[in-house]
Amino acid sequence: MTQEKWGQLRQRLLKTVGQNNYKTWIEPLEFAELQDGVAVFTVPTSFMGNYVNQNFSDLILYELTMSGASVQRLAFRVAANSGARPAVPSSQPAPAVTAPAVAEVQYPGSVSEVEPENVVEALQAAPLDARFTFDTFVVGKPNELAHAAARRVGEGGPVTFNPLVLYGGVGLGKTHLMHAIAWELRARRPELNVLYLSAEQFMYRFVQALRERKMMDFKHLFRSVDVLMVDDVQFIAGKDSTQEEFFHTFNALVDQNKQIIISADRAPGEIKDLEDRVKSRLQCGLVVDLHPTDYELRLGILQTKVQQYRASYPDLRIADGVLEFLAQRISTNVRVLEGALTRLFAFASLVGREIDMELTQDCLADVLRASERKITIEEIQRKVSDYYNIRLSDIIGPKRLRSYARPRQVAMYLCKQLTSRSLPEIGRRFGGRDHTTVMHGVRRIEELKTTDGQIAEDVEILRRALEA
Ligand code: ADP
Ligand code: MG
Repeated sequence: MTQEKWGQLRQRLLKTVGQNNYKTWIEPLEFAELQDGVAVFTVPTSFMGNYVNQNFSDLILYELTMSGASVQRLAFRVAANSGARPAVPSSQPAPAVTAPAVAEVQYPGSVSEVEPENVVEALQAAPLDARFTFDTFVVGKPNELAHAAARRVGEGGPVTFNPLVLYGGVGLGKTHLMHAIAWELRARRPELNVLYLSAEQFMYRFVQALRERKMMDFKHLFRSVDVLMVDDVQFIAGKDSTQEEFFHTFNALVDQNKQIIISADRAPGEIKDLEDRVKSRLQCGLVVDLHPTDYELRLGILQTKVQQYRASYPDLRIADGVLEFLAQRISTNVRVLEGALTRLFAFASLVGREIDMELTQDCLADVLRASERKITIEEIQRKVSDYYNIRLSDIIGPKRLRSYARPRQVAMYLCKQLTSRSLPEIGRRFGGRDHTTVMHGVRRIEELKTTDGQIAEDVEILRRALEA
């Protein structure tokens, strides 16, 4: 792997990620070295490293691998003293790499190795992702409340709830919603000074101001914004002086009736090492959570992404059932789902084929394996007996009454569909029945699903409940 090769590779990335993302995130990456399967890139700031790592690492890894490099993972390092941006042209050797990997550049002690930046300049908001708007946000049951609250704040009317706290697990759309609010406010209320940044950047700037003895400037600048958005606030937990400064900034802005929007990966009350006074401040506003996605939302998101992609690549062909399959199988988070789709697109365009089931299985084998459902036979038996209002022992036991036999067959069918257990194994767990009995049960339900609407509905409801 060489600088030149990276140069060519970047051109391929440009095609997949689009001009905007490319300019903001890919172009500034400097390939430093490839050692022991780790491809190291230098980045101008640790924020950037984190962002690229979270959003584009799959794709970069994929491209590296396709180009024949033997890479297992990526690492990002903050360029020491790379004051000048854009970073060094790729024909020259990368700057000396002395700073630790990004994950470690989070504590005041090591910040001194990070590129010195003037606080005033630094107060420019973090770049907003052009893809993260309300238009591209797909609304479903799990996120409708968070979306509605974000919309309201994005209107820029009188401040009614302060702060707005969005919380939820990774990849559920917190950052997307925050960027969408910022875009919306920029369009509707261009006179407002909107500042979006991650809690990590907040800390970074705070520490820098301390070091450069510019605390007055720092305070003044932060207190002069009209809308402050701090993403991933759990990050400052346990970092005492940063929390303290955050608390004061927060109070000063609330006193001036300025809107604050916060995100966190869990409810404020549950963030460990977050000071109580900060917690209670956060809880004063409107706290809404983004629930894990459900099947419909995932499918909606996939369909939207395909439409967007098709706008630039009209040749894209996807076989029926592929999106449904992905929505069902990848239930972790939206980022993984998107990563999978991006990889599929890249792969399909490379080989010039329709995206069918086979290509999907091949191309996403690792992702599919990682998100394999771990539903157990007991769970299925329990859910089914609850659903039909019979006892667990009746599902497993020998009684042949129709009112037990049908639910039992439904349970067997679900075990076959949702677990990787073999028929004999399933039979054993149903009171030592023979595998032919299980097979008969599974077939029976398959038939009934097409002729008996009630059964079809039962199976569908149970499947969803089990996958939730
Ligand atoms: P979080 O900040 O909660 O970890 P992000 O906002 O970064 O998650 O979302 C991860 C990815 O998933 C982003 O690319 C985002 O656009 C996408 N995403 C999440 N939720 C949705 C949604 N409801 N509609 C469209 N895209 C979504
Ligand atoms: Mg986020």
